[in-house]
Amino acid sequence: MANIEIRGIVTREVRYGESSRILTVLSKDLGKVSVLASRARSNRSGVLTATQMFCYSDFEVFKGRENSLLRLNEGEVIEAFPNIRGSLDKMAYASYFCDITNHLCYEGTEQNELLRLLLNTLSRLEKDDGTDALRLESVFLFRALRESGFAPDCGGCASCGAVENIRLLCPADGVFYCKDCAGERAGYEVNDTLRRAAAYIIESELPAAFSFRLGENSQKYLTQIAEEYMTNQLEKQLKTLEYLRKVREL
Ligand SMILES: [Zn+2]
Repeated sequence: MANIEIRGIVTREVRYGESSRILTVLSKDLGKVSVLASRARSNRSGVLTATQMFCYSDFEVFKGRENSLLRLNEGEVIEAFPNIRGSLDKMAYASYFCDITNHLCYEGTEQNELLRLLLNTLSRLEKDDGTDALRLESVFLFRALRESGFAPDCGGCASCGAVENIRLLCPADGVFYCKDCAGERAGYEVNDTLRRAAAYIIESELPAAFSFRLGENSQKYLTQIAEEYMTNQLEKQLKTLEYLRKVREL
């Protein structure tokens, strides 16, 4: 069977048997794939680096005979993100981002925009001086929602079309309401600035989507809303989010 070249980010690893691992890789053109990395294949130092969590690497894989699982042959790292690996905080953010990616992607479906988003976010997190993670997180979350078709409609009030005096983001329907139309609906309390920030993140082209600034409290709140909105869409409380929240409070 011919070897297959894949390029992507390791978003998950689980132990398999005595000493092997199954890697989940979000790859270019092939989307999410599972790769069996046996100890014999992956313990050579270069290959070991390439198969670590968060690494962006080139892999050579082949199809095993007994099952359809891809097996690792070679690996070479392109970007290892050493600063993420060396920081408890950054690792917690990166783990949450990878976890979301794994939940949003299906095997065998091309997800190049999501891969680009994850790579862009990890590269910025790698260089961050410790002040920007909440902003990066809010961009990652809203963009990931966009790429999966779950982004809120940021055009204005869903009922009357007003673009000012926005008061509520309703997670069940993914729409905003102004103060006159919000009524007794359940949702997250927001304002015009937050609605505009979300609209900017969702509607801009990718590198530009990262270039906005909010005050510290507004940014904190925007990120919190994005986390809750994502949880709502996934219908699942991710352990990596619980962990991130704990680490953030240290
Ligand atoms: Zn309205």
